[in-house]
Amino acid sequence: MSNPIKEKVRCLIIGSGPAGYTAAIYATRANLNPLLFEGIQPGGQLTTTTTVENYPGFPDGVEGTELMNKLREQAVNLGADIRPGIATYADLSKRPYRIIIDEETEVETDALIIATGATAKYLGLPDEQKYAGMGVSACATCDGFFYRKKVVVVVGGGDTACEEALYLSELASKVYLIVRKDYLRASKAMQQQVYDKLNIEILFETNAVGLYGDKNVEGVYLVKRQGHPDEEKISLPIDGFFLAIGHQPNSLLYKEWLQTDENGYIITVPGSTLTNLQGVFAAGDVADPRYRQAITAAASGCKAAIDADHYLLSHK
Ligand SMILES: Cc1cc2nc3c(=O)[nH]c(=O)nc-3n(C[C@H](O)[C@H](O)[C@H](O)COP(=O)(O)OP(=O)(O)OC[C@H]3O[C@@H](n4cnc5c(N)ncnc54)[C@H](O)[C@@H]3O)c2cc1C
Repeated sequence: MSNPIKEKVRCLIIGSGPAGYTAAIYATRANLNPLLFEGIQPGGQLTTTTTVENYPGFPDGVEGTELMNKLREQAVNLGADIRPGIATYADLSKRPYRIIIDEETEVETDALIIATGATAKYLGLPDEQKYAGMGVSACATCDGFFYRKKVVVVVGGGDTACEEALYLSELASKVYLIVRKDYLRASKAMQQQVYDKLNIEILFETNAVGLYGDKNVEGVYLVKRQGHPDEEKISLPIDGFFLAIGHQPNSLLYKEWLQTDENGYIITVPGSTLTNLQGVFAAGDVADPRYRQAITAAASGCKAAIDADHYLLSHK
């Protein structure tokens, strides 16, 4: 990178989901003059969904994009400096920390808030894109409510898949758990709960290979024992297709410096957003393997700004 544009700020926020924008709102009001870079998905994951019914304060629900536009507007109105840009390199070896944006701007910061989210993993079927929001979901807590008394599939064989299947079994009339292997990877206790549920049926050694339906998902194409002589093709009518094969936290850039768990979630001091590096804070889904909700992300964005403020007060 030759002759980068250089800037120095007190508080840099990376990411523009509920966590990033909320951090910007609080950091601005604490006079930290935060600079926020929005990344490839301004507004974050909620901009990919339709109505959000579980964000407090909206009795009739709110469109994901509208909610995120309002959060952004609120931060801007308070004075936050919000810009397009992707963090492409991080040097957290010493303070002030150094982040490169779009390979052309070098920002030095005293406090860094990482709010880059976690991306759900998909199988990679073209139909997953085609029916996104039309029957395909990667979040039972978010979308399960729309499938009351309907038939759904959950793809996956680990703890998360079992949890999602159990959650959905209380809403849907029938849940098929599609498992690639001939066993579940979930804990024994979790497996037992799934086996005990009368409306969950597990289809082992089965791959989902496609979806069908006019506008919304109406069914899934399955292959049992794919590639074996006794391979079986099944077309199963369903209303919803839930992926539960994991998430990829967007923490790779900081891997060298920050402690993460085995799946890449940034580890924070319990009850706070503090990471193993002083002055670096992680908020939202990037540090949350458990809840991954807009409201929890927003709440941790608030915590991150307060944590950053406390840190900056004691490190003038
Ligand atoms: C389809 C769908 C529907 C959902 N529905 C609901 C719902 O109804 N209710 C609910 O509570 N939750 C819902 N969720 C979950 C919710 O969207 C997330 O929990 C929440 O958005 C997490 O917020 P976040 O701020 O941690 O990260 P995200 O919203 O994931 O935002 C991450 C941000 O980081 C930015 N970023 C990433 N890498 C970089 C980089 N290198 N440089 C700069 N920026 C970067 C991205 O551009 C993005 O702006 C849904 C999720 C999806 C996918």
